Amino acid sequence: MKKVRQRRFLFLGVLSIVVIMSLSACGAKGGLSLSTLLTGEKNPIVDNGNNEKGPETGSGTTGDGDIVIIGNNGGKDGDIIHGDVDNKPVEPDKGKPEVPVIEKLDKPDQVIAASKPDKGKKLIALTFDDGPDKRYTTDILDILKEKGVKATFFVVGQQVAKNPEVLQRIVDEGHAIGNHTNNHKDLSKLDEQGIIEQFKEADNAIKEAIGITPAMVRAPYGAVSDTVKALVKENHRELIGWNIDTRDWAGTSSSDMIKMIKKEAKPNGMILMHSFGSKHVKNTVHALPAIIDLLENMGYTLVTADQLA
Ligand SMILES: [Zn+2]
Repeated sequence: MKKVRQRRFLFLGVLSIVVIMSLSACGAKGGLSLSTLLTGEKNPIVDNGNNEKGPETGSGTTGDGDIVIIGNNGGKDGDIIHGDVDNKPVEPDKGKPEVPVIEKLDKPDQVIAASKPDKGKKLIALTFDDGPDKRYTTDILDILKEKGVKATFFVVGQQVAKNPEVLQRIVDEGHAIGNHTNNHKDLSKLDEQGIIEQFKEADNAIKEAIGITPAMVRAPYGAVSDTVKALVKENHRELIGWNIDTRDWAGTSSSDMIKMIKKEAKPNGMILMHSFGSKHVKNTVHALPAIIDLLENMGYTLVTADQLA
């Protein structure tokens, strides 16, 4: 009898130690993910924009001090103790992701190249990444409207969630849109699930805002791996790059931007600019009317990205 009680006592002791250890581990984890969430929410894209290595260098090196993804897997482990048949406490599972596997993105609604412009025209596309926001994106929309020009916006899910009405305005005014991930992650550094999650979360924000899923996607920093390419293809999306980089995020002056576009403009040119992510985007806004005039004077028809060959 005494022996049984001793064993029970010992068992309860071990049990409570394990419970206490697990609880504190869980608490630490929860605290970390909350603070990550808070920093992540603050202004991840601005963070990227100020990064000297830049948002879209194509170099693939981001120097990412930026946002850790707020995973559903952080701090969510309710399973403090697993009991086996003998009801002996065992160590909680470590490093086992609890996020359900996401394999596919929804089929896009937006059809690529719905209307092909006349053959023989010199076509060029203006593209604006990282928005929408209520400052630069709306200024850019005003200019495009005034000039009667359509452009393409590659939007970030987090920004869409904050400014759904601006995304609505973009599509209402006839511009094309594409998915530019949820929070501007370097996709070449993520595994399949991470890549799909980035696109999926942005898809969800876009769908919530305007009710459609875009077919075009653009990778932040132009950083793509074979996995990214394969996933994009499998999910019926079109990966859009660029061939004229204004480096507006890095502080190219308005006049240098105009000179550069004059020099580099070419048929089927895809011009990369930004509508958010850096204070330098104000130069883009300043240069935009002159850029549009210049391209039209050079004989270009400005089209959306999906209309380029
Ligand atoms: Zn970007």
